[in-house]
Amino acid sequence: MARETQSRDVRSALFQHIDDRYDEVADLTASLIRIPTINPPGDAYEPCARFLGERLAARGFTVEYLRAEGAVGDSDRYPRLNVVARIEGAGPGPCVHFNSHIDVVAPGEGWTVDPFAGDVREGRVYGRGACDMKGGLAASVIAAESILDQGISFAGAIEISGTVDEESGGYAGVAWLAERGYFSPPRVDHVIIPEPLYKDAVCLGHRGVWWSEVEVRGRIAHGSMPFLGVSAIRGMGAFLAKIENELYPRLAQRRTRMPVIPDLARQSTLNFNSLHGGLAEQDATEGFPSALVADRCRLVLDRRYLLEESEEDVKQEVVDLLDALKAEQPEFDYALRDLWSVPPTMTQPDAPVVRALDRSIEAVLGAPARHVASPGTYDQKHVARIGHLQDCVAYGPGILELAHQPDEYIDIDDMVASAKIMAAATLDLLNGSTP
Ligand SMILES: [Zn+2]
Repeated sequence: MARETQSRDVRSALFQHIDDRYDEVADLTASLIRIPTINPPGDAYEPCARFLGERLAARGFTVEYLRAEGAVGDSDRYPRLNVVARIEGAGPGPCVHFNSHIDVVAPGEGWTVDPFAGDVREGRVYGRGACDMKGGLAASVIAAESILDQGISFAGAIEISGTVDEESGGYAGVAWLAERGYFSPPRVDHVIIPEPLYKDAVCLGHRGVWWSEVEVRGRIAHGSMPFLGVSAIRGMGAFLAKIENELYPRLAQRRTRMPVIPDLARQSTLNFNSLHGGLAEQDATEGFPSALVADRCRLVLDRRYLLEESEEDVKQEVVDLLDALKAEQPEFDYALRDLWSVPPTMTQPDAPVVRALDRSIEAVLGAPARHVASPGTYDQKHVARIGHLQDCVAYGPGILELAHQPDEYIDIDDMVASAKIMAAATLDLLNGSTP
């Protein structure tokens, strides 16, 4: 009883302290947004990594700066600089690691505020990366600092990393570090990735992805006598019709036990990333195009698949459609090229990091946690497949649908609530009980 009362006091003091840092979490998020870490090409990674590292070094963290030399995209002009900060507790024990990507996508059109000003108003921080995911990074920093501020003793260690290139696959970031043991036991035991997937939800994993390019091959001829050639564009049209009539209805039927959100993503999906046939696109002011039957037409497919599917089956399904077309139309010819793939990944709902977050969400928000899965992939794939660490989830503040949108923002209240949940879950994992 005495211990329980004491721990309840510790917890309420910790939560009060985080509430009191409302302005600070907003300021930290705004400061991170003002470093325009746009990827591609990978701008300003170095100042962003150093900003984070210097802040944590001042709090007693041991800080390492790790440039992914030789990795895709790394150059002297655009160094892929990662930062990993670690602080040891009072004795031996596990390590809880918070991993955030520091890169953001280009702002694009349609903003009503400056995407890199870090405007704070009406309880929100605005800017590119506010929700995806500098707000989540700020919340994890505030969570760890608050445990230190309160002098709460913990076993093991806490790590915070800022890594590059998540938006372009994470190969110079989490994948590169995972290959060097930074995401494996005994160094790390539990990983939380503060991607924006709602303050009340634990994200167990993500669907798989298979990207490929289909090239339909025809025969060139004069455009006034198309019967002398074979139009690759018409061939592609026939393939698209097959997808529309045969594949899409099948994919819509294929639901998964993964709790993917939003609900329409809880099935197999297919998107056409790009389609191009014939001459290179040109402006009408540049003159007339030449009269040609297109001999090439290329389509890039983005197929998102489920735990219940295999990459081989997903690919075979497309090959079958192409081969059926070839049987129907003797002049139809194609080539299929794999571009990129990632298998689906899902952490078990009763894994330690999930249970700790569940308990902390309930303690802070007063309602049970939701379990979700992400429609798209994120760095968890590298932790699972390269680091062989399964105790990894995404948990962070922010609204998934705002990611990559104009006027991206994050609610400061959500960051504060998430910071409390992250702090409580950390102590739960390290000390074996919620504070
Ligand atoms: Zn993200």
